[in-house]
Amino acid sequence: MSESDPTVFERIVAREIPADIVYEDEEIIAFSDIAPKADLHVLVVPKTVYPTVVDLAETDPALLGRLVVVAKRIADERANGEFRLVFNSGASTGQSVFHVHGHVLSGGLDEGSVGHEL
Ligand code: AMP
Repeated sequence: MSESDPTVFERIVAREIPADIVYEDEEIIAFSDIAPKADLHVLVVPKTVYPTVVDLAETDPALLGRLVVVAKRIADERANGEFRLVFNSGASTGQSVFHVHGHVLSGGLDEGSVGHEL
């Protein structure tokens, strides 16, 4: 795999691989995590690739803000509106996909199981 290969999340945006998409607009897609660690476990992902949340925050902080608002909307629609938003940032924290994504977690959380211990 080269750096120019699309990320798994770009392939979901392109409908090349299936996903349970729960939200989409021009800039953001959200879909169920394939290996859920809580009753609600959705990934919120900007369609533009930034490797980590730090890259996103430095380059487009407004888009990071919109990602948080989408997380809240999903938690309102699918849980009680309260949620954790986890961004693993770096391989040593458990980040495995270097296309920034927030884990939206609510209800029945398997503590410490998203990436490494929180
Ligand atoms: P992280 O370890 O923070 O990089 O999180 C990557 C997350 O992506 C993991 O929780 C995986 O279960 C999830 N994941 C990987 N591939 C897919 C996929 N095709 N559809 C949905 N979730 C995925």
